[in-house]
Formats: sequence, structure tokens, C-alpha cells
Amino acid sequence: DKAEIRTTLGLLYEVISNNSGPAMNFIRSRVERMSERWIQAGLKMRQSSNKTISTQMKVLLYPGALAGNVGQRFEAMVKTGGPLGELVQWADLSACLTILGHNLTFSTSQHQLHSLIGAAPGRGSCPIQRPLTFDLIYTDYHGLAHLHAAMGLAFLHYQCRFRILDSFGTEPAFNLGRYARMHGYKTLWGSWGLQPLQYMTMFPHTPDNSFLGFVSEEAVREAVREEELESDAYRKDRIAVIYGKQDYMWQGKSEYVEVISEELETHATVYQPPGHKSNLPSFIRNHGLLTQEHFLRLLRRAKVFVGLGFPYEGPAPIEAIALGCVFLQPRFDPPHSSDNNDFYKGKPTTRQISSQHPYAETFIGKPHVRTVDITNKTDVREAVRAILRTEVKPFNPREFMYEGMLERVHGYITHQSFCSKSVPTWPPESALKVHLGPLGQSCVSVCQRSSHVCEPALFHHLNNPAAFTRLGISCSSMGQEVNHLFPSYSPWGQHCGLQQEPLLFSCAGSDPSHRRLCPCRAYLPGQVALCPDCL
Ligand code: UDP
Repeated sequence: DKAEIRTTLGLLYEVISNNSGPAMNFIRSRVERMSERWIQAGLKMRQSSNKTISTQMKVLLYPGALAGNVGQRFEAMVKTGGPLGELVQWADLSACLTILGHNLTFSTSQHQLHSLIGAAPGRGSCPIQRPLTFDLIYTDYHGLAHLHAAMGLAFLHYQCRFRILDSFGTEPAFNLGRYARMHGYKTLWGSWGLQPLQYMTMFPHTPDNSFLGFVSEEAVREAVREEELESDAYRKDRIAVIYGKQDYMWQGKSEYVEVISEELETHATVYQPPGHKSNLPSFIRNHGLLTQEHFLRLLRRAKVFVGLGFPYEGPAPIEAIALGCVFLQPRFDPPHSSDNNDFYKGKPTTRQISSQHPYAETFIGKPHVRTVDITNKTDVREAVRAILRTEVKPFNPREFMYEGMLERVHGYITHQSFCSKSVPTWPPESALKVHLGPLGQSCVSVCQRSSHVCEPALFHHLNNPAAFTRLGISCSSMGQEVNHLFPSYSPWGQHCGLQQEPLLFSCAGSDPSHRRLCPCRAYLPGQVALCPDCL
């Protein structure tokens, strides 16, 4: 069957109706609030009929973070200021797949998982597996462990159908168990040996993975004339909203917040346990944790959204910018990483986090984003005054719009296939731009520098001696190695190295003695996951 664009989310409401709890309530109310816009975006997509039609997929959504013991802890945090970013993604993914016409099952029960995937108790600890009826299973790292336990040996057979929601990303060096163990990349999370593109991130920070993202609600209101929009929806009060749902995020930030409060009325949405005295400065107007709808309403009125340094890389700054706020955030110098920071410690990434929200800093930037040294009061004050002097319009990159997410997820479902043994055919070779990087640089930055993006699915085209010749490199030796820095060129000894293990093709890898051979490609404006002419 062909997947036909749907013009209602009715089926999704049925699918999620037998899941309950605060997390599902958050997901449900987000889907309901956004449903009209999803439907409109679907209709628009139907009209632009230049897209490849995909077959209808039978899809299981299994957010492991909401299941079992971990789930109980997560549920308890939803109403007390815990992380909501994952829920935003699950809501938007489920709406997106429904609009795209696929056939969904949604479960947050570890018990139900067994019957859904067809595992029956077998002899000893080895379950008996009936053929898997799902074409695709979206889950997360917790869910992966549940699937592994439930499927036994069949796990290996079916793992190519999995897609892992993984906010902060998994780099190839951490993903391959035996390599990670031998070379010091072993972490709590990595080592599943999937194709790196099966991991789906919250932001496009790790091109070795697929960028899933979410949708950021925009300032545009229905049935509003252009002039009204100018005068009303964009009108800002002189207020700042401080970003941080829990008390501890404010520790050590009082001087920074105080400077801001000298220029603007400062609001916050910090969870306050009943009967507890607030630790917030007295000049803060705290609303308590708001429903998402009320939170977005507050942002609509605000001029500035103020980052305190935590949470890292969340959805809220993108929402704020889409609603016309300027995002003011701390610069991290030195950058935070898994080497020096407790939050990133054990995460399967070598990324260097240069500010609270690197995507906002580098992909959006001024005038919508200002990144400052928050210990320098003069700089902070100047940034705030500059913000007050500038009129800033709402801004939302295409990749965070409804159409953008539909088009991206459609692209993945139609073209990404990890179950065949052959090399990837999407994006096509015509998209490839080969670059030879300088010593010490990863392909992520090499491609970025030429306004391209590293495309791991194109590595296999340049993993051969001819690729070196085409670049004018003469190799005095040529070898194949299992090494995440390959293919690359080492000037000492003029050694050309080819990659022996396709799972280790890595955009992220870098090393002072290697010049990386990089598969770069162009991308659509505001939609880094897709190349022009690839849909
Ligand atoms: N949010 C909310 N109520 C609030 C503050 C935030 O519903 O009082 C929502 C916000 O709209 C965003 C989500 O929480 O979509 C996640 O926010 P954040 O960026 O803080 O990321 P997290 O760390 O929660 O993943």
C-alpha cells in the first residue's frame, strides 16, 4: 500500500488513548494543540507532488524512557520541572508519521512490548520470536535495552529496523563495541553497533546521525491580517523570561540575572514544591511551571529569553526565537564536553559545547541570539541594551517548521534503508563534494567551513585509491585499517589510509596527524538534513 497524506490526526488519538500518565498527557495536549497546523502542512505537501511516494509502513513507537522503572521516575519529573524535550519529539514524531500516512502503534509498556514484537517465553532465558510485524521501530536507548532483552537472538536480525531517538548524538567511535573498548571510547550508552544514521538527534549537531528535530510553534496566528500581525502579535512588553524550570539551575547566576533585571522586568517558570520557600531572588516574578501553552504565551510577550547555562541544547530557545524573543545565553570557555562536565560525561560524543545552545549560536546567531561571557557584567549589560534597541522579528528555520519536519521525515522513510547489505544509494553520488581537510580537523568542521555538511552515506564513494589520486595526492604507501579517522592522509610518510569497517566511517573523527578525506554536500536553505534534488 502507498502511504497517503492524512487530513486528520484522529487515528493517532486512538493509538495513544490506552497510554496514561503525566508524560502521555503532555504529548496528547501538544498534539491536539498543534493538530490544525499539522493538517494544513500535510495539505500543502500533498499539493507539491514532486515527492517520491513511499509505501505505508507499519511503525511501532516505543519511548523506553517512559516504560518500566525508568518510566516511573521520568513520569514523576514531568510535573516538577524535569526534562520535556524528549516528549516534545515523541509528540511531533507521532503526529508527523500519522500525517504522512503510516500505520502507528504507540506503547509505553515494557510488558506489552513482548506481545507486540511477538516474543513468547521460551525455554530458559531464550524467548521464542515470531516474525516481526513492524517495518520500523522508533525507540530510545532505554527501549533498545528492553528490545534486546525481549528479542534474544532475533535482535541482531531485526536491528536494522530500529531508529533511536538520541538527543545528544552517538558518534561512530563509541557505537562499535569492540573498537570503543580497545580505544577508550567505551561509554554507558554507546556500543550497540547499529548504523550511526539509525540514531536520530534533537539538533543537527552530529551529521554521523540523522537529524530528527521537532516543530517550533510560530508567532503567526490564523486569520490575522498583515497589519494586525505587525502591530499585535509582534508587540513586545519590556520583559525577560529566564530559562530554567528548577531551582538548582539558578545557582551562582544571581549577579547575571540581577544585571538583566535592572533593564527588564524578569519572569520565570520555576517549579515550586508546595509549602517550600522560594530561593529565587525577590525581584523575580515566578509563574511556577506552566503548561506548554501558557509558557509559549508568556514567550510571545517577552523581549528576551535568558539562558542560565542549563539545560543544554533544549527546544525552548528555538521556540522563543520563533516567537520573536532574542535568546541571550552564556558562552562556555573552555567548552563543556564529556571530559570536563558531569552532564556530558559518559555520553557517546566528543563534541565541544561552546555555549548553552550551540545550534542557536552557530546556525541562527545575531540578531536572534547573543552569546556572552556572563561573568562580565559590562558585556551582559551592553548585550541587553543592544537587544532593547533592536527590533527583532520572529525567526524559525525551515527545519523546525511543520512542512520542514514532514519533508525531512518523509525523506528518511522513503530513502534510508539499513537492512540491505549493499552500500547506501541516498543521497546520490551527484551530491558529493570531496574535501581534503587540514591536520586536526574533523569532517564536521571541514564541510561546515565550505557551507556544506558532512554526509556519511557518501563516504564509500571516496574510500578508494582513485579518490586520493583525484585530489592530487601521491601516496607512498596505502593501507586499510579499522580506524574511525579513515579515509585520511598522513603527511608523515605520505601514508594514505582507507577504511576497513564501514560502521566506522565518521564525520566527527579528528586527529592532529591526519588530514581527513571528507564527503561534503550542499543542503536546502534552513534544512540541513536534505540536499537539493535529493527528494
Ligand atoms: N516548557 C513548559 N512549561 C514551562 C517551561 C517549558 O511546558 O514552564 C516546555 C517548553 O515549551 C519546551 C519544553 O518544555 O518545549 C522543553 O523545554 P527545555 O528547552 O527546557 O528542554 P528540556 O531540558 O526540558 O528537555
